[in-house]
Amino acid sequence: MKWQGRRQSTNVNDARGRRTGGSRGMQVGGGLSGGALILVLIITLLTGGNPLSFLGLGGEGVAAPDNNTGGSYQETPEEKERREFLSVVLAETEDTWTGIFEDMGRTYNPATLTIFSGSVQSACGTASSAVGPFYCGLDKNVYIDTDFFDQLSGELGAGGDFAMAYVLAHEIGHHIQNELGIMEQVNRAQQNASEAERNDLSVRLELQADYLAGVWGHYADRAGILEEGDIEEAMRATQAIGDDTLQKQAQGYVVPDSFTHGTSAQRTRWYLKGFKSGDLSGWDTFSAASSEDLRVLPEDFFAFLQTLAIDEGYYLAAPVYRTGP
Ligand SMILES: [Zn+2]
Repeated sequence: MKWQGRRQSTNVNDARGRRTGGSRGMQVGGGLSGGALILVLIITLLTGGNPLSFLGLGGEGVAAPDNNTGGSYQETPEEKERREFLSVVLAETEDTWTGIFEDMGRTYNPATLTIFSGSVQSACGTASSAVGPFYCGLDKNVYIDTDFFDQLSGELGAGGDFAMAYVLAHEIGHHIQNELGIMEQVNRAQQNASEAERNDLSVRLELQADYLAGVWGHYADRAGILEEGDIEEAMRATQAIGDDTLQKQAQGYVVPDSFTHGTSAQRTRWYLKGFKSGDLSGWDTFSAASSEDLRVLPEDFFAFLQTLAIDEGYYLAAPVYRTGP
């Protein structure tokens, strides 16, 4: 992505090297009433239950040992570049969504991006890096420990700057859902639902966030800031964090009823749908048949990507998929 020299968002909060409250963080919800705690948990589940939570080492929401000493954080040149890159992507999403909201006769209130390391205190609770990037609907913040991108490009095999841009755009997608009241509707629908139904609603919410990430990608493309290989980078990310792919990696088999984010095929397809349309015309993941796009991951991943891309009107230039772990 051609991001250098572009506007950086000012809605970035650097919480690296800052205390997160230490043991206080473990008592999240301790001062809340039962109802409030359940609400926090539901929202955390929805918005903080990000694509990668179960890759976590310490479990979701468990505070990491707090080794931070406070004071201003000294970032490495690589960390600085990532922060600046994310600030530019955030600014680009602000421009895109401001325009789309204006077309709807609404005002877009941007989310804040909090960059942290180790663990962070959000209005949805204390989270460790193991949770992965997440959005908290209560404080309208996206939380990212940029070390996550090492995992994304390393063990998940989805490197490249546009893979990172996709991750942020997906979390901003949750913010859009929050601003438009969709998140609240889903929360309500989930309250009296069975576990399988709750998971199904979660999958639809996540696929819609992927669609919205694609919508932003469309505008980035239109702005002329995409480079060759960028779409492939995003698609490799949507492929890498599908429930089926992650479960296969983690346990060797898949349990479709337990999916909360969608399969690799679904995530890639909905991302591409959004990328192609660039608007909200095709974003209704909630009316789509539940079995739609539910495919297992084929052996030949690049051929699979080609099929998805061609369905959506794209032709991928070069086989860029890295085989092997
Ligand atoms: Zn998500």
